[in-house]
Parts: sequence; structure tokens; C-alpha cells
Amino acid sequence: MSNNPTILVTGGTGYIGSHTVVSLIENGYEVVIIDNLSNSKKKVLERIEAITGCKPKFYQCDIRSIEKLDSIFSENKITAVIHFAALKSITDSLKNPCQYFENNISGTLSLLESMKKHNIKNIIFSSSASIYGDKNVSPISEIGLVECKNSYAFSKYSADMILKFESESDSKLSVSILRYFNQIGAPQAGLIGEDSKNPTNIMPHILTVASKKYEIFKIYGKNYLTFDGTAVRDYIHVMDVANGHIAALKNNLSTHGLLLS
Ligand code: NAD
Repeated sequence: MSNNPTILVTGGTGYIGSHTVVSLIENGYEVVIIDNLSNSKKKVLERIEAITGCKPKFYQCDIRSIEKLDSIFSENKITAVIHFAALKSITDSLKNPCQYFENNISGTLSLLESMKKHNIKNIIFSSSASIYGDKNVSPISEIGLVECKNSYAFSKYSADMILKFESESDSKLSVSILRYFNQIGAPQAGLIGEDSKNPTNIMPHILTVASKKYEIFKIYGKNYLTFDGTAVRDYIHVMDVANGHIAALKNNLSTHGLLLS
């Protein structure tokens, strides 16, 4: 191992997490991944190795288990955490609200508690622009009106607030929160990509129809102010999101005088 900072990535075998891990390795960081594989597959690790030539250390672990987090933080000299692990389907969150509160809010609380015990003072949190609802005018600014319309959005906003209050109570804790909308793309020759177990996002859903798993792709909504009444969506390239997390990380680390050697 080099002397470069080691970054713990929760949810690191997931869609955005795996692309961020690739970018972290390419930027010279050491990476440790935690994921419970509830929505991703272990083979992603081999794919990351095929892309970068480096297989990150991996723990199959639920972030709600403080005991396991404690032992991971004891075993590894972690400098910062990038926190992606969460349930993310809005449709599913409408059916199972408590599951979203439990996983996403309790998970963040356990992570923070364990970080505190091990004196880890940097966290980048992958939040969501879904907290803004639809009353804002695009482009939505960071101080736009918050209106959580489902338990997914509420769970992300709650985690934002927990982190905000924690950072206000501890001047040494650096927190960056990134709120963004849908991302798209599989730029690593398709070796890694959005591969949810039950896809509800548009692109993986279209692909299940293309691969003949499902027959029909349903387009919902007909009353939007668009030429055919269906919704228009914007997407961000997944590597832009990944690199946005790295930029936030670099900013956090520089405030602690910690940069790559
Ligand atoms: P993803 O489902 O592909 O990745 C999330 C990963 O977290 C999965 O690998 C899953 O197995 C893991 N996970 C979930 N709960 C866990 C737990 N309790 N313990 C350990 N691991 C757990 O999702 P993604 O699209 O890569 O999203 C990553 C993050 O970005 C999420 O926090 C999501 O809220 C946020 N986000 C996603 C989008 C989007 O459109 N995909 C938009 C904005 C924000």
C-alpha cells in the first residue's frame, strides 16, 4: 500500500459508487469498499480490477452494523468516507416508507457514530435533488424550496440535516453534501454500469426491454407542458457525478492539510 489517503466508499459496488471507485484509484487514492450487495453484485470488484489494474479491499457489510463498522475502521487507516450506501427507488419507497427511513437514516447515523469513535473527520455525502419537489423553477439553486414527496427524498434530506448539525457541533468535521438528479452512462466499455436488481430507473428499464426480459416500456405522464405531454428529463454523465465527489473530497482534505503525496 502507498502512503496516499485511504478512502472508505459505502455502496462502492453500486452504480455511482463503482464509477467513483474507478476515479479514486485513477487519482492515486487507496480504496476500501463497504456494501451489503442488496442492490449490486460482487463481480463489480473484478470489473473494477479489469479497468484500473487494482482490486479494492472489500467488506460485505451492512452500514447499520456499528460493530462491523468499528472493526473495519480499526483494521484500516481511513482518512475520509464517501457515503453512497442507500436504497434509492422512489417507487419502492412509496410502498415501503419505513424501510427507507431505517436503511438510509439509521445507516447514516451508525456510520457517523463509528466515524466519531475512530476520529474520522471527513465525509462526502451523496444526497439527492429529489428533496426539492416540483415547485422550484429550473435551474434549482441549492437554497431552493425543499419539499420531500416520498420517503426516499425525506430519508436523504434527514441525512443532510443530521450531517449539517453534526458539522455545526464539531468544527473539525468536514462535510460535503452533493444533491443531484439522474445520471446515465456506462463509459468503462460497459464493464460496470447501472445494474439494479429490480430496475425502476429509465435507462436500465429500457435495457431490460431491449434484452427481451420485458415486452413493453411504459411511458407515464401525459399532462406535462411539453410537446407530447410526457415528461422531459435531464441526465448527468455518471463520470461527472463521480468526479464531482472527488472534487468535494479534495476540497475537504485540503481544509485538513491532507493531500496526495
Ligand atoms: P445503487 O443502488 O446502484 O448503489 C447503492 C449501493 O448501496 C448498492 O450497491 C447497495 O447494495 C448498497 N447499500 C444499500 N443499503 C446498504 C446498507 N444498509 N449497507 C451497505 N450497503 C448498502 O445506487 P446508485 O444509483 O449508485 O446511488 C448511489 C447513491 O446516490 C444513493 O445514496 C442515492 O440516493 C444517490 N443518488 C442516486 C441518484 C440516481 O439517480 N441513481 C440520484 C441522486 C442521488
